Amino acid sequence: MLTVLPLRSMELGLSGVADVVEFHEGREGEIVFPVEYKLGQPKADACDKVQLCAQALCLEEMLSRRIEAGAIFYGRTRRRLAVAFDAALRDAARAACADLHAFIAAGRTPLARYEKRCRSCSLEATCLPQACGGNHCITEDKAPNYLWISPKYLILSFRV
Ligand code: SF4
Repeated sequence: MLTVLPLRSMELGLSGVADVVEFHEGREGEIVFPVEYKLGQPKADACDKVQLCAQALCLEEMLSRRIEAGAIFYGRTRRRLAVAFDAALRDAARAACADLHAFIAAGRTPLARYEKRCRSCSLEATCLPQACGGNHCITEDKAPNYLWISPKYLILSFRV
């Protein structure tokens, strides 16, 4: 098991850090199994799953092997949620990456909408959803020297 493992994908233009990557013995060899840790509980949308899938895509590129599944551990429920990296989830992760690079190319962050979940979000100090006026973008001249992308899908960091 590896913790705090740096990740990257040259194809997707992603970098980030995996909380945990487990290595299990399988019938056909070693199985790589990423695990993401969250404080809260499973969400109605697929953002956490897309984030985990993006990690898996990075690992696949780094290790040159297929990764079929991973899990998200939620602190509030103290349970693991199994996540299968199917075609739809892979497409969603790739689409989120494309959106990300479109925002970077435009020099803008996505809209930051202040919601209840922001209060327990580890990115609030960087995202500043209230200071930005609720529904405003941070343009390049107002942004810090790095950009956290997490409004809807990804919780990976990107230096621009
Ligand atoms: S990234 Fe920003 S807008 Fe999204 S939940 Fe965190 S603080 Fe709120």
